[in-house]
Amino acid sequence: MASTASGTAPPPRSLPVVDKDSQTFWTAGEQGELKIYRCQDCAYYIHPPVRFCPQCESRRVEPEAVSGKGHVVSFSINHQQWVPGLPVPYVLALVGIAEQDDVRLVTNIMNCPPEEVSFGMPVKVYFEQVEDLWVPLFEPDSEGAPRP
Ligand SMILES: [Zn+2]
Repeated sequence: MASTASGTAPPPRSLPVVDKDSQTFWTAGEQGELKIYRCQDCAYYIHPPVRFCPQCESRRVEPEAVSGKGHVVSFSINHQQWVPGLPVPYVLALVGIAEQDDVRLVTNIMNCPPEEVSFGMPVKVYFEQVEDLWVPLFEPDSEGAPRP
């Protein structure tokens, strides 16, 4: 993995282990897209990405771009600095995507004071490039409606 030293590098993040199936999820952000695996037979979204549909047992599963909108299902505020350079406190959250509520992404809620994050808060994706990955992060979506 090539990386160049730079004084403007973003805060370091612990990078995920990327395999064949999760590669699309971690790189589609280069095109500004959040891509989730979807069953081509029954239209069910599958995450974490595997080429097998738990609903209909189809193996015709392909990544598809979703809206990038969702809501906060649960979250915690971390005050402990796990990674050098990562600002604290930060919000670790589970975000449900708008297309299918049981697709839940482990992510951070950014561009928002941690004390203003709430359950059901509408959020939208953006991407932060770290080496050759585009990490999906979420920020408040002022146009979205909160979930009950
Ligand atoms: Zn299916």
